[in-house]
Amino acid sequence: IFILGIESSCDDTAASVIHNGKILSNVIASQKIHEEFGGVVPELASRAHQQNIVPVVNQAIKKANITKEQLSAIAFTRGPGLMGSLLVGTSFAKSLAMGLNIPLIDVNHMQAHILAHFIDEEGFNKPPFPFLAMTISGGHTQIVKVSSYFDMEVLGETIDDAVGEAYDKSGKILGLGYPAGPEIDRLAQLGNPKAYSFTKPKVGGLNFSFSGLKTAILYFIQREVKVNPNFIKENINDICASIQFTIIGILIDKLKLASKQTGINHIAIGGGVSANSGIRHALKTGETKFDWITYVPKFEFTTDNAAMIAIVGYLKYLENDFSKQDVTASARLKI
Ligand code: ATP
Ligand code: FE
Repeated sequence: IFILGIESSCDDTAASVIHNGKILSNVIASQKIHEEFGGVVPELASRAHQQNIVPVVNQAIKKANITKEQLSAIAFTRGPGLMGSLLVGTSFAKSLAMGLNIPLIDVNHMQAHILAHFIDEEGFNKPPFPFLAMTISGGHTQIVKVSSYFDMEVLGETIDDAVGEAYDKSGKILGLGYPAGPEIDRLAQLGNPKAYSFTKPKVGGLNFSFSGLKTAILYFIQREVKVNPNFIKENINDICASIQFTIIGILIDKLKLASKQTGINHIAIGGGVSANSGIRHALKTGETKFDWITYVPKFEFTTDNAAMIAIVGYLKYLENDFSKQDVTASARLKI
């Protein structure tokens, strides 16, 4: 079974072909245009998707060394995401499926960040059900109980900013480029994580909050820069290490609580921030400290990609779970 996956929810146009769960191609065109604006500009994203989608899909099929007539079905991201971006992928997927006379499969982007763990990849174990998945990305921060592929329950989520946003907004305060997550991660390696402390948000249960942290960082920096205009430059490593330490602490505390409440010790992470070296290290530590068995996706399946869309398409294909022809994109689609 050959599935073509198409992802266009935000600012990456991506296409991937998988054969029975194994990746044959995984193509991504990242949109550089947003860097100069310090964030994604929705209007520009839609236009870039429209420009990129045909070449990206063509390349994915070519790299997979198949013809499009061999495809069994087309899977696409239905939501959540930016409406204009989603419309490009949705319309294109519908047309191509109609032209080839094959089934269409709609995919929830956040489910895909979790089910990326079911891509066949040497050296990567698949989590057994039930497991806990923490999705940490640019727009979401959730702890999800996964009882089977499509039986997912959100146990907690952010009440304001997502963790990726916390990284990106902190980076903006520090004058770093967009997205700032990878840059803060890199700079944090050479800093002292205990140099500065930021109070952790007090939000109950398994919910998260990151907007207070962002404000605390902003006020801290403003205060220090008043005393020493070169404060950021002179202490960038310590600042980044301290921010990272605080964020990872918040995430791990919530995972500990979720594991305790559910009695589940199989723990997976997904989404762009799961590329972070700090969270990866903290999870490894959790294996010995809390008896966790942890699952971290291969680097290229953390941030947005179409392989994760294709794998969900494959799993749905096996269950004959196809979309109707009048399916529409949904910007706020829930898990
Ligand atoms: P969503 O999946 O919620 O719709 P999205 O698709 O925009 O949002 P992803 O592509 O999954 O988000 O993740 C992007 C986010 O991941 C950005 O905020 C980016 O800063 C962050 N990120 C990427 N790499 C790292 C890293 N090494 N450390 C911290 N954050 C990172
Ligand atoms: Fe994403």
